[in-house]
Amino acid sequence: MKYIFVTGGVVSSLGKGLTAASLGTLLENRGLKVTLQKFDPYLNVDPGTMNPYQHGEVYVLNDGAETDLDLGHYERFTKSSLSRFNNLTSGQVYQTVLDKERRGEYLGKTVQVIPHVTDEIQKRILEIGERTQADVVITEIGGTTGDIEGLPFLEAIREFALDVGPSNAIFVHVTYVPFIKAAGELKTKPTQQSVAKLREIGIAPQILVCRCEQPLNKELRQKISLFCNVPYEGVIEEKDVDHSIYEVPLMLQRERMDELVCRLLHLDTQGPEMSVWQDILRKLIAPQHQVRIGVVGKYVGLNDAYKSVFEAISHGGVANDCGVQIEKVDAEEIEKVGAEKILKGLCGILVPGGFGERGIEGKVLAAQYAREQNVPYLGLCLGMHIATIEFARNVLGLAKADSTEFQPDTAFPVIALLDEQKNVINKGGTMRLGAQACQLKVGTKAAHLYGAFLVHERHRHRYEFNNAFREQFEAADFIFSGTSPDGKLMELIELNNHPFYMASQFHPEFQSKPNAPHPLFRGFIAAALIHLHQQTR
Ligand code: GLN
Repeated sequence: MKYIFVTGGVVSSLGKGLTAASLGTLLENRGLKVTLQKFDPYLNVDPGTMNPYQHGEVYVLNDGAETDLDLGHYERFTKSSLSRFNNLTSGQVYQTVLDKERRGEYLGKTVQVIPHVTDEIQKRILEIGERTQADVVITEIGGTTGDIEGLPFLEAIREFALDVGPSNAIFVHVTYVPFIKAAGELKTKPTQQSVAKLREIGIAPQILVCRCEQPLNKELRQKISLFCNVPYEGVIEEKDVDHSIYEVPLMLQRERMDELVCRLLHLDTQGPEMSVWQDILRKLIAPQHQVRIGVVGKYVGLNDAYKSVFEAISHGGVANDCGVQIEKVDAEEIEKVGAEKILKGLCGILVPGGFGERGIEGKVLAAQYAREQNVPYLGLCLGMHIATIEFARNVLGLAKADSTEFQPDTAFPVIALLDEQKNVINKGGTMRLGAQACQLKVGTKAAHLYGAFLVHERHRHRYEFNNAFREQFEAADFIFSGTSPDGKLMELIELNNHPFYMASQFHPEFQSKPNAPHPLFRGFIAAALIHLHQQTR
């Protein structure tokens, strides 16, 4: 088994995750079995209790693990199917070590960061290899070199690499080469210092992925190579992409990064077969059509908060040979100026998942606008709650109907806490999580789009449709097109007398890939395209 460790230097947000995922794409397309894992140095056990401002989106896996959003990139860029073992935080490591200490497994010893914490980290690298039987394990270390909390992870991978030997483990350092406008130059000093910092702790990277806005010329590459003690061909340029993140694998291929990785790790493979990927990119860069979709949320200033949703929308575009311009709409703005003013002219409206009361009324107005104006609507989790509340208030006449999440003593609790949640006290990892079966109703738009009657979709919620209102809704043609197989939980809804009005209790965005767009997103963008043509006719 071969190991690639990806670290990051100079600043955060360099796209280490994307780089790791893109390398995964290239290796996989060389015929290798790849798995990716992420180590996060923070002390939370998982990101599930952090808000999007802190952490961006929480990405949910089939097994219900709430993980870092980089795992979303890993799943979208490769075939590897991930589990809770693919994301490790300091919090988990310390929890394990302390549990062991209490059980007396270290009896007589002083428990220390080295070797007890570092051993635990190394175990996870081995474990993921054994579980997945991959040829290559790519491990990304979160944070930036120099962070105090990242040190145990760096020490652990240093020891690990020493153990398995240089032909079995390599270090890739993702770094930043800024362009200083006043000097009109790219500067290599931050990279030099960041690599020096790594070398101080005994890690000498073989490959430097240099994030930059301007291309690196030969002299700069030579300088970086010389001062950072990395062979010339190990200096890889990763320029900001022009169109799409899906360009990154092709960019790294042009820089021959995968070739070098294979040489260093003694992996004898053919060159990567990237034609499918190139085709996707062509559709992203030069699509036949173009629609504008509004995403109505409360973290719209933050790209990372709805990462998988934005990606799934673009995949829906790929499926329809359609470019998608995403308008991020602040739900509170709608509350101030009304829906029409902000949403007019959009070809589709999407309300993503969310928690808490802020912005809810704006989202309800957006759903009402979409329903009444026949604009395609897709609701995801909270977006389904919103659609339900709106329908209750404005079609069924249940004044001030609400979810008990926002209005605990509403007269019409059309959305209420799941039964299984009623005695839950702890907040971490206790929602209804992960893949659950959903049965689709014959003859519905949903069954048609999926082309199946039983599907598995990922969940992350505490509230659900309140069945006390089911008959009333059904009598008004509100269709429950998907339910749990026992028929008790409402998983997917749609409206009949509307071109496309669908909302799911689950999060379809977590299972969409550029080469396998999710059916609901495919259908949503197709409907948006029809809406556009009708408007311009
Ligand atoms: N806040 C809602 C719930 O807990 C919706 C969650 C979500 O959108 N992920 O049920």
